[in-house]
Amino acid sequence: MEQLAFAQVGNSVQAPALRLIDFVEGRFSRLALPKGSYHPGLLCSPLHGWRPDHFGQRLQKGFIAFNKKMRDYPSNEAIIVGVESRTSSPVRIPRNPETSTHLQITNLYPCGEGAGYAGGNVSSAMDEQRAAESIVANKVIR
Ligand SMILES: Cc1cc2nc3c(=O)[nH]c(=O)nc-3n(C[C@H](O)[C@H](O)[C@H](O)COP(=O)(O)OP(=O)(O)OC[C@H]3O[C@@H](n4cnc5c(N)ncnc54)[C@H](O)[C@@H]3O)c2cc1C
Repeated sequence: MEQLAFAQVGNSVQAPALRLIDFVEGRFSRLALPKGSYHPGLLCSPLHGWRPDHFGQRLQKGFIAFNKKMRDYPSNEAIIVGVESRTSSPVRIPRNPETSTHLQITNLYPCGEGAGYAGGNVSSAMDEQRAAESIVANKVIR
């Protein structure tokens, strides 16, 4: 999926995107996309067309069903951006399970997603809280 997405944007770091309403209706409109928060930028791409059918069709059905619960969810201003296929770091910085500190570097507390100990907002926050508690317990903060 990542390779497909990469090819869709001409092997660049932009992300393929489409107005959600176009995705749901299975059409490709080249209307300029609304501004997104992804800084490298979005490139208009027929997301319903190049992904495996079972993906696109299920998402289309899902958005149609969701529209019955939350009207105008697939509005003309909403965009669908793909592909987010990996959610957590593939590497983990080792740490001492007792003190939460790095095995070699004193007072370094690897934590959260980048260090490989979490995969989302809540698990990162919980792991970081644990690190903060370890810092206090280890009397780094006086
Ligand atoms: C597009 C997107 C959608 C997501 N959606 C969800 C979702 O719906 N639900 C969910 O649970 N998770 C979601 N996540 C994942 C979630 O955002 C992360 O798992 C979480 O934010 C990781 O928290 P963190 O504290 O480990 O890292 P971050 O939130 O990345 O915090 C790291 C901090 O370190 C700072 N920093 C970096 N380098 C330095 C430096 N040298 N000096 C000082 N500061 C530095 C950064 O500025 C940043 O503030 C999403 C992530 C992305 C990218």
